[in-house]
Order: sequence, then structure tokens, then C-alpha cells
Amino acid sequence: MTTYDPNNIFAKILAGDIPSVKLYEDDDTLAFMDVMPQAPGHLLVIPKQGSRNLLDADPAVLSKLIPVVQKLANAVKDAFDADGVYVAQFNEAAAGQTVFHLHFHVIPRHDGLPLKPHTGGMENIDVLKANAEKIKAAL
Ligand code: AMP
Repeated sequence: MTTYDPNNIFAKILAGDIPSVKLYEDDDTLAFMDVMPQAPGHLLVIPKQGSRNLLDADPAVLSKLIPVVQKLANAVKDAFDADGVYVAQFNEAAAGQTVFHLHFHVIPRHDGLPLKPHTGGMENIDVLKANAEKIKAAL
């Protein structure tokens, strides 16, 4: 399938049908903690308007989304006293995409510390909530 599937898991999060640990929301954008973080503080930023990924996204949606990615990248860098921030976005399965609603990964990086694998183990919900609070405090 190469069209947007409105039953994807992030659409369900947007609809409130499944839970998430949210840390930012505005009229167009939602950010929440990745449940399988590659490092503490790993968060995802998604537009409320559905598209599979960057390839089919409306540029007007992107123009509202990217400033939020920037804002959260700065917040997570401050919150985790990071040396850098990794921003990643995958388009289609061949590129590593597993959830087909556009999202940007925002992950704080520390010198010399490797990332955990993509979609590795589930993190404890209380840890995710505590990390979300740290990021919110830095916003
Ligand atoms: P990808 O589509 O490969 O860019 O990655 C999808 C990301 O979504 C992975 O990092 C998963 O750990 C994450 N993920 C999957 N399901 C959920 C969920 N219900 N809540 C938060 N993050 C999720």
C-alpha cells in the first residue's frame, strides 16, 4: 500500500484511542515519547494531518512541523545536558519506516555513548513520564 492508512498506530494516538506520553501539542502538531527509546529522552514529533511520510506530506504542514522539531530538539538537548541531537525520519520500509504516519525522531546524543537499536526494548512507562516532564520543563 502506498496511500495513507488512517488506522495506523499514530493516528490512533491522535484520536485518543490508544495512550501515549505526550509532551507538546498545538493545533497542528503532537509530540510524545517513543516507547522503545534509542536513548533516554527519545521523542517523536508528528503532524495532526495524516501523510505516510515526508514524500507525500503537504509542504504547508511541514512548514508548521519543522519549527516544533527545532523547539523540541533544543528542549531535549537542555533537559538531558546532551552534546548533540540526532533528528531522523524514514520514508517507506526500505528506509526503515515501521509506522506509516509522518514522524521525526528527536534523540539527545552524548559523546561516546552509542544509541540502542531502532525499535529495541520497551521502556518503563514511569521512566517515559519522568523524561517527558524533564523535556516539558525545558520548553
Ligand atoms: P519508524 O517508523 O521506523 O521511524 O519508527 C517508529 C517509531 O515509533 C519506533 O521508534 C517505535 O519505537 C515507535 N513507536 C511504535 N509504537 C509506538 C507507540 N504506541 N507509542 C510511541 N512510540 C511508538
